[in-house]
Amino acid sequence: ARRLVRGLTSTAATAASGSGGGSGPQARAAVPNYALFTQRLEQARRTVLEGRALTLAQKILHAHLHDVGSMTGAPVAGESYLKLAPDRVAMQDASAQMAILQFMLSGMRQTAVPTSIHCDHLVEAFEGADKDVARSWQTSREIYEFLQAAAQKYGIAFWRPGSGIIHQLVLENYAAPGTLMLGTDSHTPNAGGLGMLAIGVGGADAVDAMAAIPWELKAPRVLGVRLSGALQPWCSPKDVILALAGRLSVRGGTGYIVEYFGDGVESLSCTGMATICNMGAEIGATTSVFPYTPSMARYLEATSRAPIAKAAGANADYLSADAEAVRDPARYYDEVVEIDLGALEPGYNGPFTPDLYTPRSKMADVAGAEGWTDRVSAALIGSCTNSSYQDLSRAASLARQASERGLRVAEGTEFLVSPGSEQIRATMERDGIQQAFEAIGAKVLANACGPCIGQWNRTAGDPRAPNTIVSSFNRNFRARNDGNPNTLNFLASPDMVLAAALSGRLSFNPLTDSLADAQGRPFKLQPPEGRELPASGYASGRDEYRPLLAH
Ligand code: SF4
Repeated sequence: ARRLVRGLTSTAATAASGSGGGSGPQARAAVPNYALFTQRLEQARRTVLEGRALTLAQKILHAHLHDVGSMTGAPVAGESYLKLAPDRVAMQDASAQMAILQFMLSGMRQTAVPTSIHCDHLVEAFEGADKDVARSWQTSREIYEFLQAAAQKYGIAFWRPGSGIIHQLVLENYAAPGTLMLGTDSHTPNAGGLGMLAIGVGGADAVDAMAAIPWELKAPRVLGVRLSGALQPWCSPKDVILALAGRLSVRGGTGYIVEYFGDGVESLSCTGMATICNMGAEIGATTSVFPYTPSMARYLEATSRAPIAKAAGANADYLSADAEAVRDPARYYDEVVEIDLGALEPGYNGPFTPDLYTPRSKMADVAGAEGWTDRVSAALIGSCTNSSYQDLSRAASLARQASERGLRVAEGTEFLVSPGSEQIRATMERDGIQQAFEAIGAKVLANACGPCIGQWNRTAGDPRAPNTIVSSFNRNFRARNDGNPNTLNFLASPDMVLAAALSGRLSFNPLTDSLADAQGRPFKLQPPEGRELPASGYASGRDEYRPLLAH
């Protein structure tokens, strides 16, 4: 059972200490064993790959083959099965229950690979963060106590309700470039923003990894997305994946790993790349991944994982596609898509499907033609998709422009914020971002999934009335958020959600339209400004939200 643990060294980088101090247990992310990964990869190149240039996804997969020596030929994408040795498992509270029960049957005393449980799906959004978390302990106590007891017994890190959303916590604490993780949630690929191959699976697959059984994956095709240029000021990484979903549809990525490359990659923040990978699930992709960049190194350092950044920097060759594959992508990727970041405009995807893309400039016309309700009844930001410091500081810059002119969110529009983690919430509070949101009428919810997964006790108005909501979340199938099949739900960047909250209109285009200040004078919002990372580091937040058990 311990054989597969060899993928990780015993060296540990203490994470999540941030600037806020505190004495609770720390999450610890091991420095990946790059020597082992490159040794396995080189063996595969010599024996079955005939020296062929590889994409990044192919490199990580071959570096995680359970037994390279047993392979008789190069895997055929879409046909062969790979037997893999994942480095880590993450589970959320809804899916962890069955997985843990299955793992208990293995008779093992500890999980074979570092594993974490995150309590995020069962907190209902209603009265605000603390009351909602307290109420979730009343409604789901037996689940939390079971998961906590099992976690303590089997050496699993346990993150309590209120500590944050699985994918944000993985990004902050556990993701590491070039490693392989299984997660029992479809948006596990979020960690691809930090160069990890992170794949959403069912509980039984996760148990394979936890019990040291080689995990089988049909060799995926690789869809290369070449990014060029840089985003315009009103655009954010969310607009990249909204546009790509519009081009490829909800099935366009099925059977593929989406791999980004090109000079545009270097212009993106690590958390922005995570947003793009997160929503790769919306095009059906197995996972998505970015090559190692300086912004990943900055994020690792900002989250107290400098040793991982140092090791990754020393293994940069392993952490990107081979130069020949980048030079001649049509030969090495199964499909190639080109995106000029500078040509993108903000997008709105929906309603009812994440691939129905409408560029911002066309929204007024399209909404009119489709008969979509223009009045926005709720605007929601945060979730695992868009909770980064960059996302929230940009949105706060728009909120400040409004409050300086005496403006709050439009009458009849609810504005809700779901922070992705306690670290993000505490940093947001320390740096005045939360106050900027509250000044225009926001309610800050628990660090949990809340309205994104339908845990939204929405009390205002008729629960079946037609209405429009705009969120920075990732999914928008009918009735997902509030159970109302007549709610039109649109996905957009946090910046566009803020603009919708202030104007109260789906058709409002902040690039061209004006708002009215408290005296009725027109003014235009200036493009959002935010910081990739907090200038004073991340605050660690409340000790009670540190994980039980470290690793
Ligand atoms: Fe899933 Fe939404 Fe929770 Fe993310 S925030 S893990 S998409 S339910």
